[in-house]
Amino acid sequence: MQIEKIFEIKDMRRIYQLTMLITAFTVAVPVVSIGTVIWLLGGRNPLLYLVYIGPAFLIPLLITPPIAITILNMFRMQTLTIQKVDEYIRYDTLTGVLTRAYLLGKMKEILPSGGAFLMVDADHFKAVNDTFGHDVGDEALKKLAEVLRKALTTDALIGRLGGEEFGVFLPGADDAMAAKAASDLCTLMRQEAKVIAGLELNLTVSIGCAVHRTQESLEKTIKLADAALYHAKRTGRDRYFVAGATDTMPALILKSSTPG
Ligand code: GH3
Ligand code: MG
Ligand code: MG
Repeated sequence: MQIEKIFEIKDMRRIYQLTMLITAFTVAVPVVSIGTVIWLLGGRNPLLYLVYIGPAFLIPLLITPPIAITILNMFRMQTLTIQKVDEYIRYDTLTGVLTRAYLLGKMKEILPSGGAFLMVDADHFKAVNDTFGHDVGDEALKKLAEVLRKALTTDALIGRLGGEEFGVFLPGADDAMAAKAASDLCTLMRQEAKVIAGLELNLTVSIGCAVHRTQESLEKTIKLADAALYHAKRTGRDRYFVAGATDTMPALILKSSTPG
């Protein structure tokens, strides 16, 4: 057990368990040591034990529990605060997917094993806000995140890069796998984001994909995905492109999908 886990106190039940343990210890230590000293000094009178051991038993029994509960409760508050801050750092409060910073950090960790990055951007999202209001826009963003979670495998890292733009990292994915995931996403989005909050929004997404090359930086991979996304937007939206990259041709577009 890690040492910091000992102080990871999440509920009152654990506080009471630890209080009992600490109290037993603080009572046992003086009782046993005073008793041993009296016995070693040859004290055989039971009254002697009662006079000295009585207070040694009662005093810690009375003062330890309130002190232990107060201190352990402070640890509990600290654990809860750390949990809250951790959640805030990791998860986007509106959509529940990873935050941009956390997604990029996680991607950097697993990047050496390879994978593909998908940049997913809602189409004409400003019009949703302008026509139906910001609240409906927020509902649409939640729906978008829900569809991303539904369409992708559980090992996919899904995060909100900002605004109506999401990032997905597919560990170990190659061109074909990235294209398949992007195609599935476009299809599911067409089906599931037709009606949001009772309104016919017909929300679609455009996706730019790039497979990470081990000799390149993460920034380069994201740039390639962004270039592919730009291409998807420019050619009509509701589609994806996979950016291939070679030394001579840094952003060759490989595959595309048009709505059908
Ligand atoms: P395109 O198809 O080219 O991507 O067009 P777009 O309208 O989606 O893109 P644009 O960048 O013009 O607009 C993005 C909009 O997203 C503008 C902004 O108000 C909206 N937006 C960003 N964050 C939020 C949010 O948290 N909630 C809501 N409701 N809207 C948001
Ligand atoms: Mg957009
Ligand atoms: Mg955008």
